[in-house]
This record gives sequence, structure tokens and C-alpha cells, in this order.
Amino acid sequence: MRAMLDHPGIDLVQVVIGGDDAQLYAGTMPDPHPRLMPPVTGGETRQSSVLRGLLALEAHAPDRVLIHDGARPFVAAEIISRVLQGLERGAGAIAALPIADAVKRSGDEGYIAASLDRSALWGAQTPQGFDFQAILRAHKAAAEAGLTQFADDAAVAEWAGLRVMLVTGSERNRKITTAEDLAMATMLIPQTPDIRTGHGFDVHKLVPGDHVWLCGVKIPHSHSLAGHSDADVGLHALTDALLGALGEGDIGQLFPDTDPQWRGAASHIFVREAVRRVRLRGAHIANADITVVCESPRIAPYRQAMRGGIAQMLEVETERISVKATTTETLGFTGRREGIAALATATVIVPPRPAA
Ligand code: MG
Repeated sequence: MRAMLDHPGIDLVQVVIGGDDAQLYAGTMPDPHPRLMPPVTGGETRQSSVLRGLLALEAHAPDRVLIHDGARPFVAAEIISRVLQGLERGAGAIAALPIADAVKRSGDEGYIAASLDRSALWGAQTPQGFDFQAILRAHKAAAEAGLTQFADDAAVAEWAGLRVMLVTGSERNRKITTAEDLAMATMLIPQTPDIRTGHGFDVHKLVPGDHVWLCGVKIPHSHSLAGHSDADVGLHALTDALLGALGEGDIGQLFPDTDPQWRGAASHIFVREAVRRVRLRGAHIANADITVVCESPRIAPYRQAMRGGIAQMLEVETERISVKATTTETLGFTGRREGIAALATATVIVPPRPAA
């Protein structure tokens, strides 16, 4: 409907709906549109539904009409234009595609009876455009003759002796008939990605010791970081960034330092819990970026090991993980080597919610 309403060559759109679909229709097209007529109810067959649509348009006395299957939602403006251009030269023009597959006629029990020459064969699509009065007369005559099983409007036109031109349709304009078609169509619908960014910040105090854990790597050092767990500020900031992106609290809420089970815990446990929560949402992690703030130890020699380890925890490629380090030029608590700080951001892509 939008494809038709948005096209500059279309003045009026008349939708034909099923007898039970009035509510569904109203929910689908909530905004009144100046070129959209109230829907009419279709009949027993495609052919009788089209006739009812044409009869509803009769009062507007259009010159031309395009008849389109609702089951072809991906009709492009160019196809509508080509059908309209085809109509400049005759009473009928339809979108169609040359048949690309080899064509067989089936015989007994599913065996091939014959291979057909496909060079002159086309698969008909819609829109199918006609001189309005000509196609209305053809449909009325077919109905009066009791002929109800024409496959499309071009067949009705052909029966009535109208010349109908073939113009080029497209693969995207295919008819959605099977569950597989629907799955393919869903992939073609542009969806706004739901991208969420979280950030985290953490500080731990340096105390006498012989190593620090930073970003999942044990580094020999003159001091250690004090904390309830292994005090890995990098992984703590990362955990908070992931939880922040999900809006699911913070590391202190999930792993309170009053709980003895987290005493001395390896911090990858916290990261993995955040990753589990990302998965539960059906989301995935696009990237994470961690900055460690300290005068020492030097981070550069461990950077690749940190990135690789974090990539494994996050189940993403290493190139999506960044670990950076900076000093604060001897200023502040990090400059005085009283503690180490870390900042992290993480980006999580959440699947779009199904339309209500
Ligand atoms: Mg911490």
C-alpha cells in the first residue's frame, strides 16, 4: 500500500480485503491517507475480489488502473513506473520476468514428460495495468459468462481480446506464498538496529604484593591490587559496561563483596555472567574498548594477550576488542601509584522487537 501511495503516478488506492480482516486492516494502516479509499471486501476468488475493487473505483472514473497482489509487498517504484509507461502504448501492461530455470512438463508419477523451450516464457507478476473501462468490461463479461478461474487479470484481458505488454518486473517482487517465502521476505525488511552502548569505571587500591591482574592477565609487579575478588579493574569496568548496555544493574549488585563466594574470585566469572545475560536477550556484542589508567606496570607487552583473552570471554573476534593504557602524568591517585583505574565501553546489538 505504501509503495502505491508513495508513487507520484498513482492518484487513488483501493484495497480489497478478506471478510474477516477489517480489524487487522485497521491496525495495519492506522493513519488516514488522502489517496487511500476505505477498503472493500473481496469475493470467493481472486477474480471476483478484483471485480469488486474495480466496481468500487468506477465512481471515480479513472483512466487507468493497476491491479496488484498484496502478497507482493516489495514492489519497487521503478516497476510501477514501467507498467504505467507500458500503458501509454496500449490497453494493458504487466510486470513479468523471463523464466530463468529450465522448464519441464511433469508426466506420470512425478517423472518428466517433456522439456520445454523457455526462451519465450515469462512468469507473470503484478502490478498488472489496464485501461480502466476495458478491464472493467472484461471482468464483468467473464463473470457473466460464469468464467471464474482466470489465474490473473492479464488472462481475463487476453480472453477479452486486449493486447497486453510485458514489462520487466524483478526477483524482489516475488509473491509470498510459502513459509520459506515469508522467511526470505522477513530478511528483506529493513530493520532499524537496536544498538546500545554501556560504560563502566572501576578503581582498586595498590598495596604491597607481587602481581596485579589486569584485563584477565597476571602481571608481575611490585604491588598488588586490593579487593574482594582478584581486583581486576579492567574486567570489572568491562562487566559494568556490558551490564550498563543491557540496563541490568552493575557488578556490585550481581556479585556483592559481602558474599564470601566471590572472595579471591577470578574476574572472568563476572564478565561471563554479563555475556550470558547478553545471550539471554538474543543480543550480540559488537565491540568493547577498555582503557587502563596507571603509571605502571606497562600494559603494552600484555595488550595482545589481554585482547585475545577478552575476545574469548565475549565470544567475539579479537579485532572487536581494544585495550589501551594511559598515565595521568603523575597527577592524582593513579599518578601517585596509589591505585589503578579502568574505563570501558561496550556496544551490544539487541534484536528489534517484533511489531505489536
Ligand atoms: Mg572492582
